[in-house]
Formats: sequence, C-alpha cells, structure tokens
Amino acid sequence: MKAAILKKLGTLLTIEEIPKPQVGENDVLMKVKAAGICIADMYTLRGERPIKLPHILGHEASGVVAEVGSKVKKFKTGDRILGNAIITCNECYYCKNDLEQVCNKHTIVGTDGGTQGAFAEYYKLPEGNVYHLPEEIPFDQATVITSPLASAYHGVRIADIHRGDTVVVYGGGAIGYHAMLGALSYDSVRVFMIDTVDKKLELARKAGAAEVMNPSREDPVKRILGLTEGRGADVVIEAVGLNQTINQAILSVGKAGRLVFMGAPFGKISFEFENYRQSFLFKEIKMTSSITNRKDEMPQLIELVRTKKIDLSRSVSLKLPFEKINEGLEIVKNDVGNLIRVVLEFD
Ligand SMILES: [Zn+2]
Ligand SMILES: [Zn+2]
Repeated sequence: MKAAILKKLGTLLTIEEIPKPQVGENDVLMKVKAAGICIADMYTLRGERPIKLPHILGHEASGVVAEVGSKVKKFKTGDRILGNAIITCNECYYCKNDLEQVCNKHTIVGTDGGTQGAFAEYYKLPEGNVYHLPEEIPFDQATVITSPLASAYHGVRIADIHRGDTVVVYGGGAIGYHAMLGALSYDSVRVFMIDTVDKKLELARKAGAAEVMNPSREDPVKRILGLTEGRGADVVIEAVGLNQTINQAILSVGKAGRLVFMGAPFGKISFEFENYRQSFLFKEIKMTSSITNRKDEMPQLIELVRTKKIDLSRSVSLKLPFEKINEGLEIVKNDVGNLIRVVLEFD
C-alpha cells in the first residue's frame, strides 16, 4: 500500500510502498477514502509529542471496510465506516469509573507513537473504535466528526446548555467553530462568536452565529453585557488559549453561568481580576476544562450530522489528493487562509 512516512522530525513526509497492516482478531482494516490534517499532526511533526520513527501520522479517517479480524461482529467488507482514533486502557482508575476521557494511558492513534496512523491507503483500528457511517454523510465530512467535532462536542455537552441560553465562543478555529455548531444543535440557543480574523467571523455568521465580534475593534465583554441586559452569557467556551481571552471569558459569563476552557496554551496563564468579588466570586460560575471526547458521544454525533442538526457543509475548506499531503501540511502549519479543515482524498 501507499503510505506517507515521517522519517525525521521537522521534515517532509515520503510517500512509499509498504506492506498493509496485519489484522488482529479484533481489528478492522479501513480502505481510507478521506483523512483530515489536524494541528495534533503538526505537534508530532515538530517533536512536541513522543514518537518512534519512522511513523505514519493521521487520525481523522473515513473509508470502507477492507478486512475484518476473526472476532469482529459488527462490520463486514465494504461497509462505510469512520474511525475514532482515541485509545484508552480500560484498566486505570478513571476508565474503571466511567471517566475514559481522562484515562491515564490515553493515546491518539497516529500522533503519540506506537500505532500507525491514517495517512496511508489502509488504516487499522480496534473494532470498538469503528462506527458505521450513514450514506447521507460524505467521507470528507466524516473525517471532521472523528476529531475536531468530537472534541468540541464533548466540551459543549459538559457545558450543560439549556433552552434559550446565550452561548459565547472565543475563537473561530476548528474547535471553536465546531463548538458553535454543537451549541446550535440545542433548541433556541443563540451563539456569539469572537475572533480577530474577519474571515472566521464571516464563516461563523453564515453557519448560524447570532452576533460576531472582533476584539481588535471592540470590547467583546462590553458588547456581550449589552446584548444580555447586563447579565452576561449563560455559557462561555474558550477555544483560543491566550491569557487575554481566558480572562475575557471569565468576565463574559453571567451568574450561575458555565465556562468551558478548550484552548491549549503552552505558556503560563494567570487570572487577573480587578474586582474578584463581582467578576468571579459572587457569580457562582461553574468552570471546567475539556480536551477530548468519549466513545459514547460518537453515535450521538453521527446522528446529529446525519439529520443535519449539525451542518458540516462548511467545515472542509480544502480537499487535496493524498499525493499532495506535504502541501496540505504546509498549509495547516502556516494557517494559510485560516482554513477550518484540510482533507486528503484517496482514489
Ligand atoms: Zn485531530
Ligand atoms: Zn485508562
């Protein structure tokens, strides 16, 4: 099979012919139709995640079943499928207490080393990580479900959104944008999107944002208070990870509001309260962080996308043939054109 192989950190991938993965008794082998390029692939390329080289990156894949192991029950050759690349141990304290999202041995196939990823003609996953893909969902959109939408939706789900809520999202990138779509799948919710890039705000507006704000031109906190009779938002999702936006997020949320941090900064973060009592203590805010999804959310998500309650028609900004993978990685690395998702397609 053809595979894009990472041989040295920081270099381009080389496309080579290598043997297909060997299928174990509980494995499903996918003939990959589409694979998304994720920022997590960049972290691996730059050496920010542990990896054994040579390695095949990629963890956002959809395709058809090429082969199944002898104990696989739910799938047969030719089925349309998508893969959830998150592997948990089923043995640690958290896994045993139904908290697999914070498993001590949590890994992502194709990013953390040890397992081969999806930038190849064939991609192997355990049966428990594979889901049937309904005909209504195209392969390119299915790749979006596997990682950016799944992570964003987990954050939205734990934000405890109620009918009529005002939800503010800081950051219109892949996570923020899909958190917005997740929030819009709830009844009668209005979403305000905040980003410094007008192109991302335009996209958010087309996809259903009630209001968009560019903090380089206006104070988003002031505007949010103005649009909520001074109360602040019911839910705020922070998907940037800058000191400034994290602090603005706290000021934007109202009394008894919920705040979910999803931005992933590398540096030091400090909370800066001019008035700690009014802006934080007296509001009884519920604050939580969220970084990955749970397996039981995947069937819910697939159904939400199938029924178009979550509309992924604007999520894939660019499609490239598999052979142009290095071009795709460069585009994602340099954030050229502020694209939501770049997806590789296979013949
Ligand atoms: Zn990803
Ligand atoms: Zn575990």
